Amino acid sequence: MIKYKIFNLLENFETNTYLVWDTESNEAIIIDPSAPSENLANAISAMKLKIVHIFNTHGHGDHIGGNEYFHRLYNCPIGIHPYDADMLLNSALNLSDFMYTPIISPAASFLLKDRDSIYLGEFKGTVFHTPGHTKGGVVIYFEPYLFSGDTLFDLSVGRTDLPGGDSKQLSDSIKEKIFSLPDSTIVLPGHGGSSTVGKEKQENPFIN
Ligand SMILES: [Zn+2]
Ligand SMILES: [Zn+2]
Repeated sequence: MIKYKIFNLLENFETNTYLVWDTESNEAIIIDPSAPSENLANAISAMKLKIVHIFNTHGHGDHIGGNEYFHRLYNCPIGIHPYDADMLLNSALNLSDFMYTPIISPAASFLLKDRDSIYLGEFKGTVFHTPGHTKGGVVIYFEPYLFSGDTLFDLSVGRTDLPGGDSKQLSDSIKEKIFSLPDSTIVLPGHGGSSTVGKEKQENPFIN
């Protein structure tokens, strides 16, 4: 069974970091570690989880700030879409120069492609490339959960006014890749509370 827990490691940005694990194998991933955190590391130890990957839904500083800390701690590979991979290594590109502190992450260990399969124990997840907030934005689907990064929020969508943003592309990504998932899919965004695909299809005012 797939379970998840939300951690808020970066107060001013309220970025959701997700710890996602399989209760059979205890294999786990960290999605968007936003900052170093002993709290999260202690939770991982207490639950006896084995971190197999870090995934970044995109390259913005508030989603990658904990990469170095957790990569060093667990020696786990970091995956990101190739279009955002350079943002890991450049604090101007990942916009952290304009945040509280410039952030540099280790380089990507592997690159994500649209519809790549990823595994937690025997559970298969799928990566979807959803450009529009950034060029290399992805969402990660482990039925019934969709980790939607800054692509889709509860009744909102990610900003498209930053470098690499494109509102038409974002809308198309959501319609083509996310709205084809079951209505009951639980949407777990990079910021704010959860939603469902069905609710977003009906009520999200930003998608046309
Ligand atoms: Zn972002
Ligand atoms: Zn964000």
